[in-house]
Amino acid sequence: MAARHVIIIGPPGSGKGTQAMRVAERLDLRHLSTGDLLRESVAESTDLGKKAEEYMKAGLLVPDDVMLGLIREQFEALEGKGWILDGFPRTLPQAEALTELLEKKGLAIDMVLLIDVENEEIVSRLTSRRVCADCKAVYNLSMLPDGEESACAKCGGKLITRPDDREETVRRRLKVYEEQTSPVLEFYRRSVGVTEISGTGDIDGITAEIIRAMK
Ligand SMILES: [Zn+2]
Repeated sequence: MAARHVIIIGPPGSGKGTQAMRVAERLDLRHLSTGDLLRESVAESTDLGKKAEEYMKAGLLVPDDVMLGLIREQFEALEGKGWILDGFPRTLPQAEALTELLEKKGLAIDMVLLIDVENEEIVSRLTSRRVCADCKAVYNLSMLPDGEESACAKCGGKLITRPDDREETVRRRLKVYEEQTSPVLEFYRRSVGVTEISGTGDIDGITAEIIRAMK
């Protein structure tokens, strides 16, 4: 049977969000992106959204119980539909709490996918990303006709490097990712197992490989 309860893990810049979205669409699963869930709940001012917003406004991480609450609400709304969870768990305590939540619902994780990309490839991908300061459109430096001098093709706005995409920040984010994720991967290797997929190369090819692995 095809995997229908899937967790996708990958470093920043691995393309895991894009892949999760594509795979969910092809296999009729729900793409549960915790980033999107947070944004939606804040925009809709739900009880959890209001709580999350307080932390975000203060520049703090949204606590695990709020994140778990958001995920629990989603699971309840799914009514048996399969899902790909993207952005959670990031830490071992989150992974343990998620397992507990799923067990209470009589659900189990079928598959943990790891999108694997070399650090140097990620640094090169993220540091060459430029974002329009006005309409937020995303570009890659290598595709811009006038390089750093280029303007946004959609609105003519100025293109900037987000602080998150500066090299030292990218390297720091990768280090945090590795430190937090290695115990999570270890946890899943000992239980459901971890399926590694190379996240380098053609985007359609990567999607096809993930779907093959899930079948
Ligand atoms: Zn623009």
